[in-house]
Amino acid sequence: MSTVKKKIRNRAKVNLISLGCSKNLVDSEVLLRQFEANNLKIVDEPAESEIIVINTCGFIQDAKDESLQTILEAAKLKESGQLQKLLVMGCLSQRYSEELKKEIPEVDGFFGVTDYNSVLKEIGVNFKYDLIGERKLTTPSHFAYLKISEGCDNPCSFCAIPLMRGVHKSKPQAKIISEAEHLANQGVKELILIGQDTTSYGLDISGKREIAKLLQSLCMINGIDWIRLMYAYPTQFPLDVLDIIANEEKICKYIDLPVQHISDEILKSMRRGISKRKTYELLETIKNKIPNLALRTTLITGYPTESEKCFNELVEFINQIRFDRLGVFTYSREEDTTAFELGDPIPDSTKRERRDLIMELQRDISLSKNRLLENSIVNVIVDEKINSDIIARTEKDAPEIDNEVIITSSDNNIDIGEFYSVEVTDSTEYELYGEIVK
Ligand code: SF4
Repeated sequence: MSTVKKKIRNRAKVNLISLGCSKNLVDSEVLLRQFEANNLKIVDEPAESEIIVINTCGFIQDAKDESLQTILEAAKLKESGQLQKLLVMGCLSQRYSEELKKEIPEVDGFFGVTDYNSVLKEIGVNFKYDLIGERKLTTPSHFAYLKISEGCDNPCSFCAIPLMRGVHKSKPQAKIISEAEHLANQGVKELILIGQDTTSYGLDISGKREIAKLLQSLCMINGIDWIRLMYAYPTQFPLDVLDIIANEEKICKYIDLPVQHISDEILKSMRRGISKRKTYELLETIKNKIPNLALRTTLITGYPTESEKCFNELVEFINQIRFDRLGVFTYSREEDTTAFELGDPIPDSTKRERRDLIMELQRDISLSKNRLLENSIVNVIVDEKINSDIIARTEKDAPEIDNEVIITSSDNNIDIGEFYSVEVTDSTEYELYGEIVK
């Protein structure tokens, strides 16, 4: 019997490093629950562990570099004899396992995105099927990500995700509801719905987009106060979802709708299946239906065919729509995507300048929107306490990526995960400051 197998009987120490997005994090949480149930000791520090599992990201170059760096650091621990087993799973491993095997021989096994069975087997334990749907949460206990689908059927020219995550596959509604009920029983109050394309939910099961129906069912769960929809794909956006968002109190008045670009030339080359006119129309419809909605989007600068003219269209779009929340990626040329053959003619410096210019515009937009909230009362959930500062969020802010509300208070009775009314006294670009209203 190998040393690792002997140690497993005595609670081998395992460290899991989760990189990339919230979708990867959910996979990591499933695995952590399996570790726990198999009597492994989960440790936070790689240097203290006997086994390290790295759940990698391979979305764009920066993410690949981060994953590689993390594997190489763990490989050093393996080389020095401190670490007994090093396992790598997730998107990067799914995409480049052959190359990685040759480059980093210290790794004991490369596995695909949700290959939990093989990872556990390699450690010497088994997947416990009675725990399907259970996770060990790594987020604060009052919110959790809820993955409603896997993979993507859209043909976006720049995106390598379908190569790693496969075709779109919706999780059956009954499974999602039972997972959500389980989370509610654990104390979760906010569900954050994720998937590569959440608005296609149901298409592969019934031939219909059923995200509205799913949201409605989730609203029935006791204990859940906020439900947030992320990654809504704009093409063929199911308009019935707007009625649910507008009318259901539990659904956050928030949509994350990644538009990526606005120029027709770029949208066509990106194979987004939507035009500039249709994008504007959709955004107008959304704003008219839910006037108090916070709109979040994601953009790409430096796509190979992005001329000055195309970029100026994007700038004009940002100034006209005035998104509430916005993120920008610089274009990353990915092998095996259809845009790969276009080359990468825009210099990195230009990609970054364009990104920075948009973020500068957004800072001004965000500041003016925040200023309007001063002297008003907002409802917040408290995420964490740092010394005397209490960090909270409104329903218009997703954790990690959006704005924060900073409450200054000497009241020790304020609890993490509880809702409070806050009077906004000051604001900056991405923060509101305020005091709790008694
Ligand atoms: S919608 Fe497009 S960008 Fe998003 S995961 Fe699918 S292919 Fe990639």
